[in-house]
Amino acid sequence: MTPKKEEKRIRTRYAPSPTGPLHIGGVRTALFNYLFAKKNNGDFILRIEDTDKERSTKEYEQQLLKALEWFNLKWDEGPVLSDQKEIDFGSHYIGECAPYRQSERGEVYKKYLQKLLDENNAYYCFCTKEEVEAQKQYLMSIGESPIYLGKCRSLTKEQAEELKKQGKDCVIRFRTSENIKIKFNDLIRGDIEINSATMGDFVIAKDLDTPLYNFTCAVDDAEMQISHVIRGEDHISNTPKQILLLKALGFDEPKYAHLPLILNEQRKKLSKRDGKTSVDEYINGGYLPEASINFIALLGWNPGDNREIFSLEELIKEFSLEKIQKAGAVFNIEKLDWINGLYLRKKSIKELTNLCIPFLSDFIEKTSIETFKIKQTGEEISVEWLERIIVLYQERLKKLSEITEMIDLFFVNDLNYPKELIKWKEMDDSQIIQSLETSLMVLSQIEDFSAENIQAQLFKEAEKMENKGNLLWPLRVALTGKKNSAPPFQIAEVLGKEKTIQRIKKAIKLIEHE
Ligand code: GLU
Repeated sequence: MTPKKEEKRIRTRYAPSPTGPLHIGGVRTALFNYLFAKKNNGDFILRIEDTDKERSTKEYEQQLLKALEWFNLKWDEGPVLSDQKEIDFGSHYIGECAPYRQSERGEVYKKYLQKLLDENNAYYCFCTKEEVEAQKQYLMSIGESPIYLGKCRSLTKEQAEELKKQGKDCVIRFRTSENIKIKFNDLIRGDIEINSATMGDFVIAKDLDTPLYNFTCAVDDAEMQISHVIRGEDHISNTPKQILLLKALGFDEPKYAHLPLILNEQRKKLSKRDGKTSVDEYINGGYLPEASINFIALLGWNPGDNREIFSLEELIKEFSLEKIQKAGAVFNIEKLDWINGLYLRKKSIKELTNLCIPFLSDFIEKTSIETFKIKQTGEEISVEWLERIIVLYQERLKKLSEITEMIDLFFVNDLNYPKELIKWKEMDDSQIIQSLETSLMVLSQIEDFSAENIQAQLFKEAEKMENKGNLLWPLRVALTGKKNSAPPFQIAEVLGKEKTIQRIKKAIKLIEHE
């Protein structure tokens, strides 16, 4: 028996450029690379592609690393995250292919650029930008691909050296073979074939110290032994260039999988204007990382049946590239809210309260592990009291940020609401006053101020009326100042008898004085 050929280790990478805020598409790319690596017991690598010195910033890079950490997408190799002041953020690396930041890999690129130049696979081009641009415009006007026509292709090395000595500006171009077919099998899209005539001699570096994306990407994919390049469909046109570069450098090419575009509900390419596209909107908007990941996983992937709720571990188990669709993936914010609500409902009340606390910072401040102070009233409150409030809203909460508006009523002295809100259907002022007076009377007499008891006592009165709403609506608005809220019995219990009575009296005054 011949020994089984050793399978190549699965290594994927997410290779963002820190030139702007991280978007949902980037998180999906990271996630799919992560899932594929983990599913196959492989490695997930984070590589920072910061060769564009003008547009890349440390701030964007930090945001990016922190966001990936928030989404719980842990990389096996790449910059180390550290908040410790004495260690520069991301200045250390884990993994044998370090450094993982392209701006620190200059020597590697220089070596390979020189190799391409030495072996005549690349050449210096001295054409001016204007010249090249005019040529491209002309080619487009006659319906041809706007490529570089190769004027400097035939310069000898000596001629090039001479022009460089004279201080002429130049770039380094790859010598693309004419009229060859470049084929690759995209694991999502099938066979793709491109004729080199549509590419021409493309620029790979401004000079030996300033390599450009296609070149650095190809070199690093090889040097970092990436087995699968999984990235957005917008990179399909780069793939043949990278394949040519890899071949010229004597490397094997990785497998490629290009993910479908993310579309808005009008089936147009998702843009910032569509909302919930930047990760900040997830992190600060009250979405849970696990719910966001669940939602993002479904952007172009499905398990082959109609299941939609998956933990990260379940995603790892279920994920496969074959189940990624070719067609654009439609982004539906309502689905995100629905999934998030589902995850919020699964939280224990302790966990949920802890998650809500940061969204209440306008109203409360921590005074000890278990206590808070209400900023406006100065009252001390306990975590248990907060839990009693939050539990009333757990069922209706779709995102944590909604909690602020739902429960502010518990932290203010005075509620502000228009008189009209108290009216239930056709009630006139005297009926409202009568209704509130009834509630006041019933509630003042209650000793055991529990929600059940309050409800039982109020129902006795409400039954005498033609419509329960006549009693309960004005009371609920008096206690909350809101159109929607938890039922008044529970609100009253948490507010306590004194505040409840105060609020009803205020409501009566509001009606009387208008
Ligand atoms: N740095 C590239 C980008 O952010 C990624 C390219 C790739 O994945 O090959 O678009």
